[in-house]
Amino acid sequence: MTRVVIIGAGHAGGTAAALLRQYGHEGPIILAGEEPAAPYQRPPLSKSWLKGEADLEALLLRPESFYAEHGIELRTGVTATAVDAAARTVTFADGTIEPYDALILATGSTARRLAIPGADRAGLLELRTLADAERLKAALGPGRRLAIVGGGYVGLEAAASARALGAEVVVIERMGRVLARVASETLSAFFTAWHRREGVEILTGAEVSAFEDAGVRLADGRVIEVDAVLVGVGALACDQLARAAGLACENGVVVDETARTSDPAIRAIGDMTFRPVPTHGGHRHRLESVPNALEQAKQAAAAIVGRAAPTPEVPWFWSDQYDLKLQIAGLPDGADRQLVRGDPDVIGEGASFAVFHLAGDRILCVEAVNAPAEFMAGRMMIGKATPVDAAKLVDPSVSMKQVAVG
Ligand code: FAD
Repeated sequence: MTRVVIIGAGHAGGTAAALLRQYGHEGPIILAGEEPAAPYQRPPLSKSWLKGEADLEALLLRPESFYAEHGIELRTGVTATAVDAAARTVTFADGTIEPYDALILATGSTARRLAIPGADRAGLLELRTLADAERLKAALGPGRRLAIVGGGYVGLEAAASARALGAEVVVIERMGRVLARVASETLSAFFTAWHRREGVEILTGAEVSAFEDAGVRLADGRVIEVDAVLVGVGALACDQLARAAGLACENGVVVDETARTSDPAIRAIGDMTFRPVPTHGGHRHRLESVPNALEQAKQAAAAIVGRAAPTPEVPWFWSDQYDLKLQIAGLPDGADRQLVRGDPDVIGEGASFAVFHLAGDRILCVEAVNAPAEFMAGRMMIGKATPVDAAKLVDPSVSMKQVAVG
């Protein structure tokens, strides 16, 4: 019987374990993770959980009893320190050596740290784990002043939640706009305006040069005085085990459409992978999203049990800030123009619009704010490579259903 070991009990690893059983795998499954909790969802850590609207139970992917009930040996608080690909064993920090027939690496990503003076100060906050989120929550409250270094999704979501808790927030972004690496200028301008309306101070083109007792020092000499600092400057693939084991790695562990690494007995899934995206020319990307973790968990579990590979999915992502629901499908690389449906200048009640990124008459990506129909139809059209009539697409009086049929 195939013995499967999964390293990393996060969103991808926890899902893969459950799917293996669902797909009929009968052999042993060992799901080993460094964190003390059973697999849980991270998205609420910057959203509902941070605001106090969800408890730990609500975060868990599955009830804790699920794993034993399904013959999955969940080991929490254990760190894998080495993979011996030739011997097919994993070594853990406590000296335990675990043999495998199939290994799934699902070690996720870690918060990137800045190489500047004071970056190792004990009080600096980051936001990847439940423990991080607990520290952040303890630092927030009415009258507290929080600096968020980095205007990415996690930073902006934390800013919105911190405002809901009554804290003052200043977002410090090095680039000329927030979300610069991950969204269109239209989206950046919209979210900047919305956060400012909610009382968040946003500094762009502001380089942090040091963390000091008083707060955050900027390259231009200014010191932003705050009570707490959250650093949210991106995440790096946790691929050290894979590299040390000799697996091919670039921007993460290189895998194929079945989550297979350069070693046929080892699959890798989730944030740690550099994976092909079939709906976008098969080019490799490192995607940090729940839908990606779920899709690759399916790929790995299907391959291990000998089931047909799942149909490739269009990558997608969401972010919730205030009453705004942002949904993004597809990838904008290779687009030659952007079309906007709805009015992104409405900063207040009734805000709803979508930015479509096109190459010729095909949609490559849709960024939809409070616009679920645009998101759904856009995602479907990306998947099917449906040609689109631009005039209809930008005309809100033409329903997205009609747009989708051409
Ligand atoms: P993880 O869930 O990070 O799990 C990896 C696990 O592996 C961790 O528990 C880690 O401790 C463990 N591990 C690492 N090394 C070892 C080792 N050597 N031995 C044992 N265990 C190890 N995505 C969205 O789509 N929408 C969102 O709105 C969204 N919001 C987010 C908000 C926050 C605050 C964060 C942090 C992420 C958010 N994401 C969101 C991203 C999403 O949570 C990740 O893409 C997803 O968790 C990836 O799953 P994973 O299993 O690859 O990694």
